Amino acid sequence: MLDRINKFFKKRMTRPADSEQIFLSDQHSLTPELMSTEARKVVSTLQNAGFDAYIVGGCVRDLLLGFKPKDFDVATNAEPEEVKPLFRRARIIGRRFQIVHVQFGREIIEVTTFRSNQKQPESDATRRQTESGMLTRDNVFGTLRDDASRRDLTINALYYNPSDNSVRDFSEGLEDIKRRLIRIMGDPEVRFREDPVRLLRVVRFSAKLGFQIEPRTAEPMRALANSLQQVSSPRLFDESLKLFMSGQSLATFRLLQDYNFFAHMVPQSAECLGQSDFSERLIDQAFTNTDLRVRAHKRITPAFIYAALLWPAVQQRALVYREQGEPPLSAQRHAAENVIAFQVRLTAIPKRYSIPMREIWDMQLSLTRRTGGRAERLVNHPRFRAAYDFVLLREEAGEDLNSLGEWWTRYQNSNELERQNMVSAIKEPRSSRTRRRRPRARKPDTKSVE
Ligand code: ATP
Ligand code: MG
Repeated sequence: MLDRINKFFKKRMTRPADSEQIFLSDQHSLTPELMSTEARKVVSTLQNAGFDAYIVGGCVRDLLLGFKPKDFDVATNAEPEEVKPLFRRARIIGRRFQIVHVQFGREIIEVTTFRSNQKQPESDATRRQTESGMLTRDNVFGTLRDDASRRDLTINALYYNPSDNSVRDFSEGLEDIKRRLIRIMGDPEVRFREDPVRLLRVVRFSAKLGFQIEPRTAEPMRALANSLQQVSSPRLFDESLKLFMSGQSLATFRLLQDYNFFAHMVPQSAECLGQSDFSERLIDQAFTNTDLRVRAHKRITPAFIYAALLWPAVQQRALVYREQGEPPLSAQRHAAENVIAFQVRLTAIPKRYSIPMREIWDMQLSLTRRTGGRAERLVNHPRFRAAYDFVLLREEAGEDLNSLGEWWTRYQNSNELERQNMVSAIKEPRSSRTRRRRPRARKPDTKSVE
């Protein structure tokens, strides 16, 4: 043991920039018990079969920082076909990156083979790059060192070996965790061009962990904002959710604006931000509320976040349609249709979110019409809670809705008689006239434009 420690210090003194450092038990805060039992099982199975295997990535970073990891990843020199037969329930998945999912009950451990980031001959079909330098296929296996250098950030490139409780570090990642520094591996511009999602990951981890971005890493970032256009819409949507739902969405949003990334992610919203203070307040408030909910372990949904982000754009467009003579609900639905269609091309918002978004928006109009049996029907609508929260959000952002939020708060807290009195006290001349004329038409103004 002493021998190894001496060796370590000697190595450290003479270490070139990217040399391997091995940190032993007394030089870091990790212990094997902190790792999931399943991840340890995967590592020991691979090691017993003669392969190298480590726990790696976000889980090592999070545990060093005292956070609970979302999941555990394992890296090994065994190729997918060698990994699979070692486990009872394992599947090879993916095309761009072939990885093995090893399943234990509900937990899945992702096993990746050490990969290289080295240039291959043009004809080599295992690694492809577009003209802008973006990697489109990347299945070249490599050494542990290669694997470390193709990872995104130094803090994400730490390799933990539970059998001797050591951490392997090729890039001063452990030091960066102590320094609270986000540092990209290798040449920043090259790495960002290879995969522009790394731009967003830098911002995400900086906001989430409260780490500074190293100046050398930050330097080319703003100029590369355009390259986000090359990210596929499903991937950009996935990454957007991670950015907005991390519990640090306000800090993230500020950084996304600083680096001009937000304009490439939600351009219609970015345009409104430049035009009205209300948009800025609404979006700030939406993120503030989202972060508070995450901290309180309350449910958050992408539908609500995107509904808030796109609301100013929908309103702006709806106004144009109303000026062209469309009735309010029809104009708003028409606007929603266009705004969502544009956004979906950039971030592939699935229907399970875009449908509730439309409902939240529709209900902003219907919640103002509360006479007859409407209020009672609305309060029982499955989307009521979100639509009501959205009214509160608009009011918090400074919109004057004639105390609509407060009315609905009171309504929910009232008994049947009080509710009837509240409804009778409302003067809605236009809607009550419509109702008298056509008592059976439940939604007199909801002629769809779809
Ligand atoms: P979290 O899961 O908490 O969001 P993570 O760091 O685990 O954070 P994952 O997306 O799960 O993020 O990726 C696992 C690891 O794979 C990362 O820690 C990093 O080493 C590597 N990685 C992920 N995305 C990239 C990328 N775009 N470029 C290079 N390496 C990446
Ligand atoms: Mg992860």
